[in-house]
Amino acid sequence: MKRIDERDTMFARMNYKKGTKEYKDYYKRNPEKKEIDDNLRSLPNICGEGTATFNPIHSPIADAGFKFLGDINKYVDGEVNKNKVDINPDTMTKKIKKLTKYFGANLVGITKMKDYHYYSYRGRQLENYGDEVNNINKYGIVFAVEMDKNMINRAPQVEEVIEVTKGYINAAVIGMWLSNYLRELGYNSRNHMDGNYLVIAPLVALEAGLGEIGRNGLLITKEYGQRIRLGVVTTDIPLITDEKEDFGIKEFCKICGKCARTCPGKAIPKGDTKEINGENRWQINQEDCYRMWRSLGTDCGICIATCPFSQDVPSDLVNNMKGSKNIMKKILKWDEEKNGIRNYIRKPLDLLK
Ligand code: SF4
Ligand code: SF4
Repeated sequence: MKRIDERDTMFARMNYKKGTKEYKDYYKRNPEKKEIDDNLRSLPNICGEGTATFNPIHSPIADAGFKFLGDINKYVDGEVNKNKVDINPDTMTKKIKKLTKYFGANLVGITKMKDYHYYSYRGRQLENYGDEVNNINKYGIVFAVEMDKNMINRAPQVEEVIEVTKGYINAAVIGMWLSNYLRELGYNSRNHMDGNYLVIAPLVALEAGLGEIGRNGLLITKEYGQRIRLGVVTTDIPLITDEKEDFGIKEFCKICGKCARTCPGKAIPKGDTKEINGENRWQINQEDCYRMWRSLGTDCGICIATCPFSQDVPSDLVNNMKGSKNIMKKILKWDEEKNGIRNYIRKPLDLLK
């Protein structure tokens, strides 16, 4: 698999202001994206006035969270203690997993970092636009924080973006504490958080056995489905790695396709997988998805709420579905009876009334 260039991601592209050197460089190399991006940039901002969900009191709750993330994302790295503490990889792995959960993570896994887990070039922050990514640590500690079902089931209302923001903040704080701790022990460590990633978190999580990637490109965990946010700490402290796990999501997504039907942006492919970047998988149309975000004023999240696995499918079904069409059909039936087209809570959260 080829490394992904962060400059091609939607949030990076939206930062290129007309007349700047990044704008000139990017659209010289990608002229076909210029008109699409100029048009997207002209739309109201997420959480901004003019979007469908804008509320002058509630929308700034999420905005304030993202401003906070923007303020702290320069602290992802730091000085490493010169007095390295000797550790036993087995004991340390167990300790790190317990500690990460104590800090607030619901799931944690460890993997050896592969080249394609890292972006090739940076793009999200203009000060390092075009810098090659070469800060490569050997291990990735990847963790998930659960997002509240009652908030996500209100997608695409403002509750969804508030919950997503909370997930990013929790993941960022866990990663900061953990990476600082590992540097205190004398080992290189870097936190990867909203606005300052060198890695593609779902790819790291897939390899560490946290879940599998679904039709809409998001990680599906057995425990919480897609109702999670991910954080990653890369480090060179010696650790024991976890195994990747195939519990049957690709086969399930082939017969389900629910997210492709409910997506308001028609951004999720309906058909079978295709060969993309050396992998047989689906790929969403990121421009169509993002356009919906700028129109709704939240990051939508309808596909997250729609996915049966986000709605607590009984664990005996999830654990035994690989290779069993019969169990997969049982899950679809369970989901249809319990959630219908999708579980949607129309009533606003008490806090936001
Ligand atoms: S977030 Fe919304 S628009 Fe984007 S892929 Fe999911 S359902 Fe579609
Ligand atoms: S809704 Fe269905 S098709 Fe979409 S990711 Fe979830 S399981 Fe896969």
